Amino acid sequence: MSNIYDLTRKEFQNIVTQNGLNKFQGDQIFSFIYRNKVRKLEECFNVNKKALSLFNDYDFETLNIDKVEKDSLGNIKFLFRLKDNNLIESVVMNQSYGKSICITTQVGCNMGCKFCASGKLKKIRDLTPGEMVLQVIKAEEYLNDKLSYVVCMGIGEPFDNYLNLTKFLYIINDPKGISLGARHITVSTCGIPSKIIEFADLDLQVNLAISLHATTNPLRTSIMPINKVYNLDELFKAISIYLTKGRRVTIEYILLKGVNDRETDANRLLGLLKHLDCYVNLIPYNDADTTFQKPNHDEQMRFYKYLRDAGLNVTLRKEMGSNISAACGQLRGNNLA
Ligand code: SF4
Repeated sequence: MSNIYDLTRKEFQNIVTQNGLNKFQGDQIFSFIYRNKVRKLEECFNVNKKALSLFNDYDFETLNIDKVEKDSLGNIKFLFRLKDNNLIESVVMNQSYGKSICITTQVGCNMGCKFCASGKLKKIRDLTPGEMVLQVIKAEEYLNDKLSYVVCMGIGEPFDNYLNLTKFLYIINDPKGISLGARHITVSTCGIPSKIIEFADLDLQVNLAISLHATTNPLRTSIMPINKVYNLDELFKAISIYLTKGRRVTIEYILLKGVNDRETDANRLLGLLKHLDCYVNLIPYNDADTTFQKPNHDEQMRFYKYLRDAGLNVTLRKEMGSNISAACGQLRGNNLA
């Protein structure tokens, strides 16, 4: 049985028009589900009965909250159990500018980034669009509050699940649905050039973040195996094409003590980025194991100031969540033991 949350509004429209009805009736049901939060078709009042019956074979089954962890800053980590008993996680971060949720796009991940707990949990399957949508809905229900931002930066490589990802983006952006502005949505990729180029033509101005994390091919390959397949040259060619479409990117850079946080690294990073219209987000490593360490505050600031003083648009991410297993994949890993 397919899940009702997998459908975009366009798909609702197509199903009703293929059966001789007006697309407006598809819009109506879509709005009931997302605006009125109905959980059964019978709760859609004043909707054409024939239109409703077309969705009888879709279920409203949701994912269930298995565990919740909170920290003193108001950040919340959800462990969700899917219908097939797989576990995924999302983190709600309580920022000064609103609550943002970091969602998961795959059960496990095949990209194998060495600094990432999720990389140790091989991909089992892709999430459906509905399973992504439901992470947002369930978190909002739990919080009894609206989320202001969605970030696809949890477990999984979003561009390795491209079709489902883009359907999810259309559903949460839809003005008759969750209605989250495209500028409030960010997709983060470890760098799949063909998908970066395809994403540039998506008719949604969603933010794109690229996980760079190293400035030479040998170092990047050693911590991000994807670099063996698509090296820095290919990645930056794709970024340049993306930027010609009038888009901007954020470059994510995890600071790993003694690995990529030296002045030579900062200098090479500057060389790679100084001609690009981009933001740089420095992320102090969130210790998930003993392979890597986080640079201390002074070391973080030194790297940050080097870039800032050279004119890059750079931020140093506030550390959060280390006491709620916020390194991606950690909570799920803990519960699989
Ligand atoms: S950092 Fe992202 S892409 Fe890399 S292994 Fe972890 S979840 Fe996958």
